[in-house]
Amino acid sequence: MIDLHCHTTCSDGTDSPWDLVERAKNIGLSAVAITDHDIFRGYSEARAAGAEYGVEVVPGVELSSLYHGKHIHLLAYYADSQNEGLNALMDRAVRERIRRNKAMVKKMEQAGYPVSWEELSTRNAGNVMMGRPHVAEILMEKGVIASIQEGVVKLMGRGGPFFVERYHIPLLDYVKAVREAHGIPVIAHLYQYRMEPEALRQMISECVDAGLMGLEGMYSTYTPEQEAEVKRLAEEFHLIRTGGSDYHGTRKPHISLGTGMGNLCVPESYLEDLKEAAKKA
Ligand SMILES: [Zn+2]
Ligand SMILES: [Zn+2]
Repeated sequence: MIDLHCHTTCSDGTDSPWDLVERAKNIGLSAVAITDHDIFRGYSEARAAGAEYGVEVVPGVELSSLYHGKHIHLLAYYADSQNEGLNALMDRAVRERIRRNKAMVKKMEQAGYPVSWEELSTRNAGNVMMGRPHVAEILMEKGVIASIQEGVVKLMGRGGPFFVERYHIPLLDYVKAVREAHGIPVIAHLYQYRMEPEALRQMISECVDAGLMGLEGMYSTYTPEQEAEVKRLAEEFHLIRTGGSDYHGTRKPHISLGTGMGNLCVPESYLEDLKEAAKKA
């Protein structure tokens, strides 16, 4: 059994890369992929742990992108983390996130809320995923709001008084950039986007034209029908399937490494297919 979709403390997971690989070893996984959001940082530590524990570690990343108003997550495996084009897009995403955070906090400060850019950036130094939940965390600790959710949705969500729009990297741009970096682009958790079947097919078709190589075929929350549907789509578009839990440690306590919500079991053949694809990427 393997798990090709895992988050560490390098993004919003709660296990360090080392601890995640140790956990993988303890539950009998033969391989794990590190797929932190929008950053490659965790791989070297995870690889060292993999050598120690005899677990194969696959380098990956989960890229946040936009397609017709939908926030689509694109997994990328074995991409060259030094590739200029891909890094330029990822850097732009980070810059846009910082710009948005600054603008949002400034608006709140001007409206009398006890939060500042300095406080936010000091508390979350080095966290590329910093965003609305982290601002809400400060407000909650100061008793201004009752929950993170309240801050994220009511104050800073679309339609809220402190909402600030942000530029997102277009999905097809990321697919192309991942291919240019010799990586394998794979659309993650297809059924989280609430798309009609036709719209989903259309998106896959456009991504295939841009160089898409896979679909996430097994995932913690897929129903058996959805799993069967991805299999059909993968066959139709000649794509490989990957699979993983989307483990986040205690941040998503209902999702376990490897087994997801209990029934997940990603076969080792998925990793063989991924490696075969990597030869062509
Ligand atoms: Zn995701
Ligand atoms: Zn994920």
